Amino acid sequence: MSGVTEDPSAELLRWDREHLWHPYTSMINPLPVYPVEGATGVRLRLTDGRELIDGMSSWWAAIHGYNVPELNDAVTRQLGNMAHVMFGGITHEPAVALGRALVDITPTGLDRVFFCDSGSVSVEVAHKMALQYWHACGRPSKRRLATIRGGYHGDTFAAMSVCDPVGGMHHLFGESLPTQLFAPKPAARFGASPGSADSDINALEALLMSKADEIAALILEPIVQGAGGMWFYSADFLGAARALCTRYDVLLIADEIATGFGRTGQTFACEHADISPDILCLGKALTGGYMTLAATLTTAEVAETISRGEAGVFMHGPTFMANPLACAVAAASLDLLRRDDSAAQVAAIEAQLRRELIPCANTPGVADVRVLGAIGVVELENACDVAALQRSFVEQGVWIRPFRNLVYIMPPYVIAADDLSQLTSAVKAVL
Ligand SMILES: *Cc1c(COP(=O)(O)O)cnc(C)c1O
Repeated sequence: MSGVTEDPSAELLRWDREHLWHPYTSMINPLPVYPVEGATGVRLRLTDGRELIDGMSSWWAAIHGYNVPELNDAVTRQLGNMAHVMFGGITHEPAVALGRALVDITPTGLDRVFFCDSGSVSVEVAHKMALQYWHACGRPSKRRLATIRGGYHGDTFAAMSVCDPVGGMHHLFGESLPTQLFAPKPAARFGASPGSADSDINALEALLMSKADEIAALILEPIVQGAGGMWFYSADFLGAARALCTRYDVLLIADEIATGFGRTGQTFACEHADISPDILCLGKALTGGYMTLAATLTTAEVAETISRGEAGVFMHGPTFMANPLACAVAAASLDLLRRDDSAAQVAAIEAQLRRELIPCANTPGVADVRVLGAIGVVELENACDVAALQRSFVEQGVWIRPFRNLVYIMPPYVIAADDLSQLTSAVKAVL
């Protein structure tokens, strides 16, 4: 045997670099990727044996951490019964159990459930529900969406059309993209004094009032705008948006794909303003980060109106609808959410993030620091060098992936205080 052995991951990395797209990357000059061979608790293990403390929850999803015995069991048990079976003309226990649990924990009135594949698809489904609803009401001119700038709702076409027009590069897609209506991004921050959101609310009202005949629905991410800029806006704005939608006959779609299941300190971010939307999109943490699954919930009124319309049915039905493995692990994740007292875990993370991150606000180059629930954001004055920061984080034993001018952490709820301190120390170190 030769004394020189090539790092086994070198060949994997080379093939990956030449053939595999990663999210939002170049095929000419991709950012480096790190080979992970396993993950347990809050740690990712690289192929060279190094362990990284996870500060990302795999993009909001892995709320209970990785390799969770209860979730593994749920998948294994279900696998013994069936991995999948079509949902046309068939139903099964995992779908019913999960549907019940979702109706139970989501804001009141949302008790009709549509399961689909991913967050973006759940936004498409919500959009179609809104269009079919107004069609069935005899008001087919109400077919545009309104939204607020700074949002992110996914990567499929309807979802893209309501992402921030600049951040989402709408001009690239030209006429393939439906043109929607945009109100300004709410400037009043979460927790700002009463009255601070008035001008944001007035701008939204002006839009809804002037275009009520064209608007089917207002879609927004409640309280936390995620991938569009990690901005936390005023609950007064959200409460007013609900009231304005009712006043101007516009459905409200709450995209809680990122915020749902406790991340913001409430089970759903809508609870910060004590509102219920007409349509709710869920995804990401729904399965505890185990696999892709999403859901779009609506009210009996919307569902029944759609069903009385021309088609007589809701016109959507994905092949893998209500995939039993995904439903089983999602139901188990919801059980854990209750059993682990996730609300207390998130409250503890929030307190620690405030203590450890807010002082960074005085560091040169830092524009703003904000914390809500289990989310901590350091906004820099300038865009950062993602590859360099990433390398530095990995050298410090943490997994934090910044984007644009945002360095942020949103760890699994089960993270221990020492591990969280390592994440915040690493952020301070790179600043
Ligand atoms: C991630 C995300 C989506 C898209 O979900 P995918 O599963 O990536 O399609 C939509 N809306 C929000 C708010 C998200 O954070």
